[in-house]
Amino acid sequence: MNTRYLHFNERDLALAGEMIRSGELVAFPTETVYGLGANALDECAVRKSYAVKGRPADNPLIVHVCDKSQIYDVASEVSSYAEKVIERVMPGPITIVLPKRALISDVVTAGLPSVAVRMPVSEEARSFLRAAATPVSAPSANLSGRPSPTTWQRVREDMDGRIAAVLCGAPCKVGIESTVLDLSRERPVVLRPGAVSAEFLSSLLGVEVTVLSDPTSKVNSPGVRYKHYSPKVPMVLELEGDVDKLAAYYDRKVAEGCNPVLWVRDAKRFGSRHTAFMGLTAEDAAANLYETMRSLETRYDFIIASFCPRRGGYDTPASQGVLDRLMRACGHNVI
Ligand code: AMP
Ligand code: MG
Repeated sequence: MNTRYLHFNERDLALAGEMIRSGELVAFPTETVYGLGANALDECAVRKSYAVKGRPADNPLIVHVCDKSQIYDVASEVSSYAEKVIERVMPGPITIVLPKRALISDVVTAGLPSVAVRMPVSEEARSFLRAAATPVSAPSANLSGRPSPTTWQRVREDMDGRIAAVLCGAPCKVGIESTVLDLSRERPVVLRPGAVSAEFLSSLLGVEVTVLSDPTSKVNSPGVRYKHYSPKVPMVLELEGDVDKLAAYYDRKVAEGCNPVLWVRDAKRFGSRHTAFMGLTAEDAAANLYETMRSLETRYDFIIASFCPRRGGYDTPASQGVLDRLMRACGHNVI
């Protein structure tokens, strides 16, 4: 298949919308990561998105909409918690899980009775969704298991020749996937941390919003069971910002014949060792996380990442989301 690279002008947007309505896949930018869009009401198109990614059939997709009224079209019940989130946080980098309507097929929800709905705030995403004129199911536009793409060039690496088109927009500002908030049960639960923190949601809803922390748990967020976001080379994670420990670990890897890199907040403290910048805040770290992962794996054979969630500038709202992605990327291999 010859993948078309489209731009944000009227003609290309109309073409992208036409492709979606005729059952093709179109990758598009959002504020979180690039998505692999399909018409959420076309089972055959949705199946293609699983096949193209190599995504397990029991990992449900998020339905993207551009208008609040469409949330009521896909969800059968919108609780008062949900109404508050819709009013105050949407559009934004959050996904809410609600009981689904029959219109949304089991292929989208992987057989679950609930549907995950998101309304992106990015103008590029919104103009694409308007052109599509239908709810769009979209997983991240990477091959399954790879870090999510945050630039169109990374989408091309994984998807060229496999999908009808890529809408080439700006790099994604948030950089990690949306916060997934389950509002389909009695108490709200964050199934996947992201830029919108559980603390913020707790104060908004006036109830403690817990974060599902056990990735092996069988509760209804299938996606979190899978190993995700991994670079191609081994990675370890350090959580204290302990310079001596990090330097010693690096030196040991060099002595073993490796070509390692320290991925840290303060490179100056590591002398002539190879370093990469983690960012000044958790939001900075999130914005560059996957792009840095994909770039480091081509230049080094071992990644030593350091992220201290409670201090050193990373005590900011996206902290839990970044920690979650780093933990998955290193396979929970904390030093
Ligand atoms: P991705 O498309 O890779 O961002 O993954 C979407 C994630 O949203 C899934 O892996 C699930 O964790 C979550 N999700 C989607 N639909 C549902 C649902 N109906 N119930 C619970 N979690 C969901
Ligand atoms: Mg994904």
